Amino acid sequence: MNFDRGNTRSRASSARAPEATAQIRALHRHAPDQDLKGVKRTLRVMKFGGTSVADASCIRNVVEIIRASSQASDLVVVVSAMAGVTNKLIEAAVQSEAGNHSAVEKILQELQNQHARTVESLIESSTERDRLGRQMQELFEQAHRLCEGTKLLRELTPRAKDLISSLGERLAAPMVAAALMQLGVASEALEATELIVTDSYHGGAEPWMDQTRERCEMRLHPLVQRGVLPIVTGFIGATEEGTLTTLGRGGSDYSASILGAALGADEVVIWTDVDGLLTADPRLVPGACSIPEISYREAAELAYFGAKVLHPKTLRALMESGIPVWIRNTFTPERAGTKITRTGPDGGNAARALAVISEAAMITLGGPCLAEAPEVLGRTLAATSAVRSDVLLVSQSSAQNEVCLVVPASHAKRTVEGLRHEFAQELAHQQAEHVKLDSEVAIVTVVGQDLRRVPGTVGRLFGALGKKNINVMAIAQGSSDCKLSYVVEKAELRAALVATHHEFQFEAVSVQAVSMGHAGEPAWYYEPQQPRADAD
Ligand code: ADP
Ligand code: ASP
Ligand code: MG
Repeated sequence: MNFDRGNTRSRASSARAPEATAQIRALHRHAPDQDLKGVKRTLRVMKFGGTSVADASCIRNVVEIIRASSQASDLVVVVSAMAGVTNKLIEAAVQSEAGNHSAVEKILQELQNQHARTVESLIESSTERDRLGRQMQELFEQAHRLCEGTKLLRELTPRAKDLISSLGERLAAPMVAAALMQLGVASEALEATELIVTDSYHGGAEPWMDQTRERCEMRLHPLVQRGVLPIVTGFIGATEEGTLTTLGRGGSDYSASILGAALGADEVVIWTDVDGLLTADPRLVPGACSIPEISYREAAELAYFGAKVLHPKTLRALMESGIPVWIRNTFTPERAGTKITRTGPDGGNAARALAVISEAAMITLGGPCLAEAPEVLGRTLAATSAVRSDVLLVSQSSAQNEVCLVVPASHAKRTVEGLRHEFAQELAHQQAEHVKLDSEVAIVTVVGQDLRRVPGTVGRLFGALGKKNINVMAIAQGSSDCKLSYVVEKAELRAALVATHHEFQFEAVSVQAVSMGHAGEPAWYYEPQQPRADAD
């Protein structure tokens, strides 16, 4: 196994602490990670999302991809919960808080049946099925106990919510490991609570990388060295004291990049249900097509502004090490997908893709006090930060005495409450006349390398939207040189997207996307980086 990839990335740029680096190098020198010709094996962290493990047939497909890939490289696999399971678990938690016993029982029973059916269809050996059955029974008993406690307290604590919503991944990983064993691939399911050490911010915990690195060295390295393929639960981690945390919804992508960074992997591969990062959400823009290569910054902006295919924090863990990320389709593995690299492709300063946050809310704070008080914007942002509201766009108009914020719709209520609290005195004395909420808006973001330096971008955009009679409610450019965001009414979103997609000719990238795979070879033999001669 190759933990030290010094020949592919600059060590100077690594975020790794010196003592950790020394430890990894020492491990590397003794690791039998070379084939007989002295060539190192590539290390990949592969993550499979919910739709990729949605049922027994999807899992069979996934374990085939893993088996074939494991012939070409060392692997650490991260799996999500089966599609829809986390939503249902959270629904059970919410119903428990409301004291709705029968709804909780129904959800948990359905989930238990779904997993039992999957095991029944997937696993041939009755002994193995029984073993998995017992393990699942224990997890469901935990779920019942947690929901019962929540019902008694009539309070869903962040800690209990994390524990309940973690169950999907903890059920999925053992099934994938068992299916792999059945194919003759030695593997072991692991809970990421053993590996990813986080702070205690439930529902959106952040990793502590030094501790995580140590745990990965101690726990994952020996397994891979012995030829056992680790199947790790996505989405979760634990504090140093062992309290389970979650990394946020959709967080299994982040789990993969955290493990990739901790292990110094060669690549992270996010396997999902589309052909990579597309020029727009294919559910909203039918002509959207796969982008062959894109930079970290562009991909991060797309993810932050709504491209669900990648959790917004995924690239954060990899920025310094420069480990490339691939996004590929489990259902069309012969296609190359998208490669996300530190710098992106050469010659790219053009608009490249669109992202959408369709559930957004616009909040306007207005009144005479705003014209006179220079600290209003500061107070506004302090108030939003106190309620952990994610301000996506902000603008201030002194002429109209207004501050306008756009936040995710789910943050709207608490943001308005936070502002009403902060400006309570002004509101009472009618100096601040209103805090208005419009929750029927969407944000569209155009992303492209150095977009700010491309003359005429805003003009083209307004021209295209104007032709379709689409009213732009707000626009923001400048906070980043690779993005331009605008706000429209929700009712005009689809038309706005199609017009923007067409104006920037995003359709034009489609041909290259599919032609990157190796002709005649299954895609999992496609080696983005050739194995290298040992440099040590
Ligand atoms: P997974 O279950 O594999 O984690 P997700 O549902 O989280 O998958 O993300 C994949 C989905 O993201 C796609 O099915 C697609 O509808 C959506 N999506 C939104 N924007 C984009 C985009 N720009 N490129 C690709 N997919 C996108
Ligand atoms: N299962 C988790 C969720 O639905 C994590 C993930 O899918 O990435 O949010
Ligand atoms: Mg996802």
